[in-house]
Amino acid sequence: MSKFSSHNFKGQKALIRVDFNVPLNDTFEITDDTRIKAAVPTIKKVLNDGGIVILMSHLGRPKEGPAEKYSLKHLIKHLSELLGGARVLFANDCIGEQAGLTASMMRPGEVLLLENLRFYKEEEKGDEKFAEKLSKLGDVWINDAFGTAHRAHASTAVIAKFFPAEKRMFGLVMEGEVASAEKVLHKAEKPFVAIIGGAKVSDKILIIENLLERATDIIIGGGMAYTFMKAEGGQIGNSLCEQDRIDTALEILRKAEAKGVCIHLPSDSVIADKFAADAQTSMAPSNNIPSGWMGLDIGINACEQFSNVIKHSKTILWNGPMGVFEMHNFQHGTKAIAKAVAEATESGSFSLVGGGDSVAAVNQFGYADKVSYVSTGGGAMLEYFEGKTLPGIAAVQE
Ligand code: AMP
Repeated sequence: MSKFSSHNFKGQKALIRVDFNVPLNDTFEITDDTRIKAAVPTIKKVLNDGGIVILMSHLGRPKEGPAEKYSLKHLIKHLSELLGGARVLFANDCIGEQAGLTASMMRPGEVLLLENLRFYKEEEKGDEKFAEKLSKLGDVWINDAFGTAHRAHASTAVIAKFFPAEKRMFGLVMEGEVASAEKVLHKAEKPFVAIIGGAKVSDKILIIENLLERATDIIIGGGMAYTFMKAEGGQIGNSLCEQDRIDTALEILRKAEAKGVCIHLPSDSVIADKFAADAQTSMAPSNNIPSGWMGLDIGINACEQFSNVIKHSKTILWNGPMGVFEMHNFQHGTKAIAKAVAEATESGSFSLVGGGDSVAAVNQFGYADKVSYVSTGGGAMLEYFEGKTLPGIAAVQE
């Protein structure tokens, strides 16, 4: 693979797989442009070098071919604005004559946006012929779509075989994601704490197992902590519990002990008499929750207990909220952890927040720019932490 930042794109057509899967409202206005903004530095570098940019992406989940609702044409105007008024052309078919002809007539400094890749079933099937047709549009292929890196689709992985190693590379989004994930998984300075929360143990087993090989401490919060409490013989009332994962929880605790990894469970909880924003609330030890009550957030002591571990860690990985942070009464724990991670970062630790709801939480509570890195790829980052090889990364590197 080639290194994006040291490549000169002068006179070259850069075919860039971006993740422009943004939410649109009923009148096709973009309601969150984070993903488009993220790709701007990559696009600008190619344009500033005197190159031509050809963008390909998916949008939504079209089922039966082309559909107005999922057309990327709705993004043209905003994309051009974000690029400082650069000319953005559009091809209403991502392959075929028009796309080929437009691409061949473009001038340096111009951008061509191709129509939604998923209007062809071949994209998700990873069809080789479809990938080959796409590949003809560019001189180099850049993968900058971390959000789909865990999928072996035509434009994210299969296309790689049509470009020699020196003409394949990561864009700046991918470079950042891969570098920060590698830093945590393979070059972590110790102590290394992984903070794992969220609803279910079953969703996080593979991550925890992989982290048992790497971390010095694992903090377990959120709904999943109660399955562990129950496994240890605690009373958890009506708290979330995956009965069929109790053995798994015990196995994880046993493995951690054998490996010398310290597992931290919340000593106390904010409890509620129902799963609702207006529930009555109280505090209780997490292993002694009265019947009829449920733990919906970590308690004050647990916040202090976890914050202390975080403060003494040099590397921090955070995935999953500590409680039902969507409801005001149960967001204190997640906020306290976000604050502790931000403070540790300020004192020189490296912190990576990745995967779904913890990213939403750091954004919501205003801590996104106080941690070292916030990952944009939910599912992709989860699979990375599980230790899997991501096809969109391997395709560029191999
Ligand atoms: P996940 O997608 O697995 O990271 O889970 C995130 C969800 O877990 C959020 O919607 C939280 O509201 C929910 N959650 C966190 N803590 C609890 C809890 N103690 N009880 C029930 N749900 C929880």
